[in-house]
Amino acid sequence: MKDFIEIDGSQGEGGGQVLRTSLTLSAVTGRAVRIEKIRAGREKPGLKRQHLTCVKAVAEICGAKASDVEVGSSELEFVPGAIKGGEYRFDVGTAGSVTLVAQTVLPVLIKADAPSSVTITGGTHVPFAPIWEFFAETYLPELRRLGVRVEAELDTCGFYPAAGGVVKLRVWPLADGATPSRYELTDLGAYRGGKVVGVVSGIPDSIAEAEVGIVGTQLRELGLERETRRVASFGPGNYCYAQLDYERVSVVFSSVGTYSKSRKAVGHEVVTAVRDFVKSGKACEKHLADQLLVPLEMIVGGHPEYNPGFEWQSNWSLDMQKKTKHYTTNSDIIGKFR
Ligand code: ATP
Repeated sequence: MKDFIEIDGSQGEGGGQVLRTSLTLSAVTGRAVRIEKIRAGREKPGLKRQHLTCVKAVAEICGAKASDVEVGSSELEFVPGAIKGGEYRFDVGTAGSVTLVAQTVLPVLIKADAPSSVTITGGTHVPFAPIWEFFAETYLPELRRLGVRVEAELDTCGFYPAAGGVVKLRVWPLADGATPSRYELTDLGAYRGGKVVGVVSGIPDSIAEAEVGIVGTQLRELGLERETRRVASFGPGNYCYAQLDYERVSVVFSSVGTYSKSRKAVGHEVVTAVRDFVKSGKACEKHLADQLLVPLEMIVGGHPEYNPGFEWQSNWSLDMQKKTKHYTTNSDIIGKFR
């Protein structure tokens, strides 16, 4: 009988991240996993479309034997096989986040036998997930520092509820000698400038202009360049983000407009996110920290947190804005695969 790593999906954050990290690490370690109480910590527990897409995507990439799951399923057995590079298309089918699907499959594809092209359809700018610009400008550059060769392109924006956003990735297997032995994100370096961008689709430009005005004015001291953009998509949408470029890292802070959120609220969310980060004086933005854990584990190795009393040198170091529950939950799941 197969030896399963047992994961309690209700632990810690009790959300989709427990599942996504388990899938990725199951594929790259070749170890079978059984997850129970999937997303038990959420109002509507069980798999949603985004999570189901992640299960199907990783299963396809590594030829896994997985239980027959559907939306709402709360248990999964996943027995991985060999990871294959190639051409893949994944469609969330709703405005579930394409960047979260991308962050699930990307670390698997760097362990493939050949390069891959991946097209993912769904939501590109949705609340409580990395917007495309965060993925492309904040997350991917850090992966490249870790030796990952990846190209990424936003083809079409997808908003809730119409969705239909399309992103494309090209991923190459991790090359011998390409990876660093240490990784540090402990010093921002000098501030080089930044911008605030307001984006609308199918709604008046004045919304983006108002948001950009609020952020630009309230964060005057940062001298942000101001930009508004109109994009094409299958349904109306709006988001606003500030991007701060430091010598060491670029950080994107965002807010996604929804039917019930005023332009003022969107602007203020961006301002608050930027202020909290700048005030912290830290180098690693809080969302980036939890998202880097899987690639760090795979590429540069362990962290002393999981080996108390064991003498070794940690291979990486993050000076974090905040140790979030997503971070500690992700660390705990990673610990199960050691
Ligand atoms: P659910 O909470 O419904 O289970 P989920 O699967 O979409 O949903 P989580 O498990 O909560 O999500 O994980 C959300 C991920 O999105 C985390 O990695 C978190 O860091 C990231 N994230 C959330 N908000 C932002 C943001 N504003 N910028 C960048 N990343 C974000």
